[in-house]
Amino acid sequence: MDIEKIAQLLQNLSPVTIKPQLCSKVITPKSTCTNCQNICPVNSITFTRIGLKVDQCISCGLCIEACPNHVFRLNESKLLDINSKENPTLIITCSLLHHKLEKKLHPFVTQIGCLGELYPELLVYLLTSFSKILLIHDSENCKSCLAKSLEEKVNINKYANVFNTDFTSKLQIIKNLDDLKPYLGTQQVQHAHDRRSFFKSIFNGSKNMSRQILDSALNQQNSNKKDKVQPLKRYYLSEALKKQENLELSALLPYPQLKINACNFCSACSKLCPTNAIKIIQEDENKIITFTPNLCTHCHVCSDVCFFQGLSWGQNLTVGEFLDDKPQLLASAAQKTCENCEQDYYDLNDKNNLCFLCRPVQDVF
Ligand code: SF4
Ligand code: SF4
Repeated sequence: MDIEKIAQLLQNLSPVTIKPQLCSKVITPKSTCTNCQNICPVNSITFTRIGLKVDQCISCGLCIEACPNHVFRLNESKLLDINSKENPTLIITCSLLHHKLEKKLHPFVTQIGCLGELYPELLVYLLTSFSKILLIHDSENCKSCLAKSLEEKVNINKYANVFNTDFTSKLQIIKNLDDLKPYLGTQQVQHAHDRRSFFKSIFNGSKNMSRQILDSALNQQNSNKKDKVQPLKRYYLSEALKKQENLELSALLPYPQLKINACNFCSACSKLCPTNAIKIIQEDENKIITFTPNLCTHCHVCSDVCFFQGLSWGQNLTVGEFLDDKPQLLASAAQKTCENCEQDYYDLNDKNNLCFLCRPVQDVF
C-alpha cells in the first residue's frame, strides 16, 4: 500500500461522528422529532428507551442535514481548511467516486463520505469563501440512496433572496469529467500526500483521538450534566451573512420566530433546551423568559415539553433579528401569592389570583 493510500485511509476513518446524547428524543421522550428516521433511505435508525440505535448505515449522510441538533456530524475541517485564495474553486466528491477517478485528479479533489453530508448552511458558508463549488457526481452510484436527488439535497435557493446571489451559477454538479478541465488549470493541489503531510495527518489524528477519548471520559463523568449543543448550522449562516455587503436586514430567513401564549415559568423548556436559546431569569420580583434566535436549532424540544402548550412558532425571522446576539424578551411576570393555597407563583395569563393548581381546569389551558 502506498503512502497516499495510507494518508487517505487515515483521513477517512470515521468521517461522521454520532453524539446520541444530543438527540431531542434522548433529551426528552416527549420530543416529536423524527427527522432522521423520516429521511434515512434504509430505515437504519430506531429510537429505543436507552437512546438512538443505528443499524445498516450506508453512510449517505442525509441525517446530517436533517438533524437540528447535530447528533450526526461531518468532519467539516476537511473543507474549511482549504485555502480559498489559492483554490478559488472547491471541487468535492464522495469517497466511492474518488476511488474511481484517475489518480492525477486526486490532488485537486476533496473527498467526503457522501455528497448528501453537505448541508445547506455549510454550502452557503463555503460559497461566500470560494468563487465556485463543483460537486462531482454519478447518479448510477447513488441508486441505493432513494431519499432525494443530489439536486434536491444541495438546493440552497431558499437563501438566495437573503444573499441576493444566484447560487445556481456558483454551485455546479459535474456529471461529465471533461467539464472539470477549465478549472484544473487554476487549481493548486488541495491535498499534498508527501512525507510531511502524511506525518501531519497522523499527528492530527492522534490529537483528535485523545480529544475524543477525553470527550467520552468527560461525558461519562458528567452523564448527569447536560451536554449543550453548539448550533454550528446557525453559526455558519451568520458568518456567511456577516461577509455579505449591503445586507438586507428585513429579508426573511427560513426559520420561524418563537412565540409564547401561556406560561407558569416552570423552567422545563429552559432546562431542556440543548443550546440555551430559551432562558428563564429571575429579576427582582419578576421572572422573565428570553429567546436568542441564532442559538435556536428549531429542535422543538421546548414546544414539545411545555405542559400548557404555551410555545408556538410564528412568522419567519428577519436577518436583523437573527444576527442580533442579544436575547429577546419573550414574556415576563411578577410574583403573586395564590388566594387559595397562599403559595407564591408566576403566571403569564393569570386573571383570578389563583395558581394553576388551584384554578378551575377550564382556566388552566
Ligand atoms: S413556556 Fe411552558 S415549559 Fe417553558 S417555562 Fe413556560 S410553562 Fe414551563
Ligand atoms: S429554543 Fe426550543 S427549539 Fe430552539 S433550541 Fe431551544 S429547545 Fe430547541
